[in-house]
Amino acid sequence: MIYTIEKANLLSKQLRRFTDGYAYMVAGQFANIDFWIEETINVLKALDEHKSRFEKMREAQDNWIEEKNVLIPNFCPICNGFCELEVHKYKKPDLPKETAEKKKKESRKELVDATYFFLIRCYKTELLSKVELENYCKRIGTSVDPYDLK
Ligand SMILES: [Zn+2]
Repeated sequence: MIYTIEKANLLSKQLRRFTDGYAYMVAGQFANIDFWIEETINVLKALDEHKSRFEKMREAQDNWIEEKNVLIPNFCPICNGFCELEVHKYKKPDLPKETAEKKKKESRKELVDATYFFLIRCYKTELLSKVELENYCKRIGTSVDPYDLK
């Protein structure tokens, strides 16, 4: 599992828990609203910058392999070791592949939603004014759906 995605999912889960709590619990968590909003902003940034971090890591790994001429055993799952049919007993390690684009998108959406619905709950609990709600939503890159205020 990818660190950044796990972190985003953990934060979403936490915010969902706050949202579903009793009003006195929401009031308690609201005392740290700026901390939680900052957490969301930081994690969204980490998600958005994941691709460039991944590419940087991949390139550094590639450079190291090239410079040091790194080779690893060319094991065959059928022969359960070196392959009887393979002339080259060693090969260059494969570079990691970026496969998490879809999961990152899902985690990003889930985190914005979880933060948004916590803010809506705070508004409905009369901890936030409408202007404050709108400002927090803006900071996490979303806007208030009037339907959610009913
Ligand atoms: Zn083989």
